[in-house]
Amino acid sequence: MSDATEGWFDSREILIGGDWIPAARTLPVEDPSDGTQIGEIPRGSADEVDRAVTAARAAMEGAWGQTPAAERGRILARIGRRVAEHAETLARLEARDVGKPLSQARNDALALARYMEFYAGAADKLMGETIPYLPGYTVYTLREPLGVTGHIIPWNYPMQVLGRSVGASLAAGNACVLKPAEEASLTALAFARIAVEAGLPAGALNVVPGLGEEAGAALAAHPGVAHLSFTGSFCVGQSVQAAAAANAVPVTLELGGKSPQIVFADADLDAALPFLVNAGIQNAGQTCSAASRILVARPRFDEVAAAMAARYRSLRVGPALADHDLGPMISARQKQIVAGYLAAAPEAEVLARGTIVEDAPEGGHYLAPHLLAGLAPGHRLEREEIFGPVQLLIPFEDEAEAVAIANGPGLGLVAGIWTADGARQMWMARAIRAGQVFLNNYGAGGGVELPFGGTGRSGHGREKGFEALYGFTQLKTVAARHG
Ligand code: NAD
Repeated sequence: MSDATEGWFDSREILIGGDWIPAARTLPVEDPSDGTQIGEIPRGSADEVDRAVTAARAAMEGAWGQTPAAERGRILARIGRRVAEHAETLARLEARDVGKPLSQARNDALALARYMEFYAGAADKLMGETIPYLPGYTVYTLREPLGVTGHIIPWNYPMQVLGRSVGASLAAGNACVLKPAEEASLTALAFARIAVEAGLPAGALNVVPGLGEEAGAALAAHPGVAHLSFTGSFCVGQSVQAAAAANAVPVTLELGGKSPQIVFADADLDAALPFLVNAGIQNAGQTCSAASRILVARPRFDEVAAAMAARYRSLRVGPALADHDLGPMISARQKQIVAGYLAAAPEAEVLARGTIVEDAPEGGHYLAPHLLAGLAPGHRLEREEIFGPVQLLIPFEDEAEAVAIANGPGLGLVAGIWTADGARQMWMARAIRAGQVFLNNYGAGGGVELPFGGTGRSGHGREKGFEALYGFTQLKTVAARHG
């Protein structure tokens, strides 16, 4: 590690109003690859959240609020460049912190840089419009920042979720209070150091790590917050929305998924295969948009099962820095949850498993990926998000049945449809309930430019792309009567 990044593992300070404040209390940081403690992070309190919100408000009323849109863009661009320069260090931090294989962590660091680049370019292109109205009137709209935005993010893609949420909010001119997940705060703190060094005015970004029920709940309920962006589980999302309702502020909820990929009989299986498997095992299946259900037209079911099983048998699970196909699960608890799901389906046919490498440390939270079939329709494993490396193969007879199965669980983040039939592509894209539909590809989460979000129990609101910017503004209509 370079001198500049010395100490990033052991980051016990909270960023409030441009100052790094030593935490009164801390939480240990575990390396999921071997179970050892690698550092400490702050355990932020409600009082520190309150101070962070006050500092963000002051930034809106001070230098940050006066910063022209083009200059906001330049600052974000500088942050993005520095993130890219530090990508390797950020990737190693993330790999140690959350057990993500190094190349996947590298991808996340570069995605964070790309979010900054994208929103840097968008900052001064956020415009209102003029509206034809009555004679003697000129009417126009202004897109104004909301004020202080709260960002509560999960541990599975800390850098990507931070980038899409904080990047869009800053570009739109808001000041942010970020509460990273207690299991994964190191890259958020490192990002904040980079942002401050790159010239982000004091208070525009404040970072208060800590426990969900303490710092997270305090941020969700804070009356000084004008918008909440929450990414995480359904139950916590409900409580965040309830807390926001008490202050009548808008919430973006990015929740879990049970995303399907649907393989029709005319699909190009060679093209589909890498997407079918990778979208299930990426980040050890701890991906909101993981393709945890693979629906296959019955005539091709055995062929798809055999091809996926062969790939599964070649999968290796091991320490994050060794960069195998899969790293460990984030925690002993998460491993236990996934093992519980496997135990709840003893009747499942295990088509194939991956292999945990022999030199995987004993204390790591390793779980071999499982490819399952043969569950009764509507089985619990087919309905609930497992959030681990478990994929289910499900046969279907026709389009109508495929749609019914795909939409069945009532979660709708992403779907993939594999067919050569153009009319079927169009029909299916409309029939599937999901925030994103990929035709003959699958982009777990997709690119930074592509609006992303849920339907049904997967949440509401959109992040990524320009759509996210609109969500971080409020529209003011100005009607001038001039005769
Ligand atoms: P989680 O809901 O347990 O935690 C998410 C965040 O909420 C953390 O920062 C946590 O500290 C905080 N939190 C916990 N309790 C809180 C409370 N009472 N009040 C306020 N904040 C609180 O989720 P997780 O286990 O970190 O993440 C996994 C879940 O996130 C999965 O369901 C996954 O599908 C979902 N997810 C969704 C997306 C998406 O874009 N839709 C992306 C990533 C993860």
